[in-house]
Amino acid sequence: MKLIDMHVHTTASDGVFTPIEVINYSLSKQLSGIAVTDHDTVGGIDEAIRHARDLKDYVVVPGIELSTDYYGEEIHILGYFINHKSEKLNEVLDKLKKARVVRAKKIVDLLNMKGIKISFEEVEKVSGVDVIGRPHIARILTSKGYSKSVPEAFREFLIKGSKAYIPRDKIGVVEAIKLIKAIHGKVVLAHPGLIKEKKLINKILEHDFDGIETYYPGHSTEDVSNFEKLAKEYNLICTGGSDFHQIPTEEDIHEDLGSCSLLLNRIRKWKNEFELRKE
Ligand SMILES: [Zn+2]
Ligand SMILES: [Zn+2]
Repeated sequence: MKLIDMHVHTTASDGVFTPIEVINYSLSKQLSGIAVTDHDTVGGIDEAIRHARDLKDYVVVPGIELSTDYYGEEIHILGYFINHKSEKLNEVLDKLKKARVVRAKKIVDLLNMKGIKISFEEVEKVSGVDVIGRPHIARILTSKGYSKSVPEAFREFLIKGSKAYIPRDKIGVVEAIKLIKAIHGKVVLAHPGLIKEKKLINKILEHDFDGIETYYPGHSTEDVSNFEKLAKEYNLICTGGSDFHQIPTEEDIHEDLGSCSLLLNRIRKWKNEFELRKE
């Protein structure tokens, strides 16, 4: 039985493990592969692919998780088997990277105005190689004692309606789908169970998706059976992953690597198409 975790973050975005470390850790979890799906960056993929070359029968799926906007709600879209070297993709990612820096600076300014003494340089130090984001600010707030934990830092300072929320420029759902398709990727709706406005799910799925992330730590049994039904209705593949960022602490919102994984067989069709394309 070969298992793959289709949703993994590395130090390229807001994960704590480098691509090599995360693969080594996945071996201790008896996984046969991972999809590297960092937020708005492909910076971790090459290192992961290189490392996996020395491992027998290990699969690294080049992926990405794009944050998009859909009628004011943040929707995450996963792209799998993408051509991560595409110029078109990297141009868009560059723009998003710049927007993230601007936003992080604005958040730090706002926190400073409220008497919270953290600097942009401190945030930069803990940030990902390619991506700076709210999780990094949350880590600083926690390490400096302004919050007890990362989730608490989010609740108090960083989420919509909290003390230092700043919205970020995001690409639209349609634009993200078009981009992933243009680089021959498969498009999957990430953790639909986390979408607050449930009515949006069907509406979003009217767009050109290939899969739906059905097996996810935050999904209830009811969610899973709902998404399995939707997958049939919209002719989608059910995927699954742990959304791994780090070995979870008690308060962590994310789960351990492999806590949700998928039989490698389920994505065989996609994998074969990808292999053919490479030849
Ligand atoms: Zn996500
Ligand atoms: Zn994720």
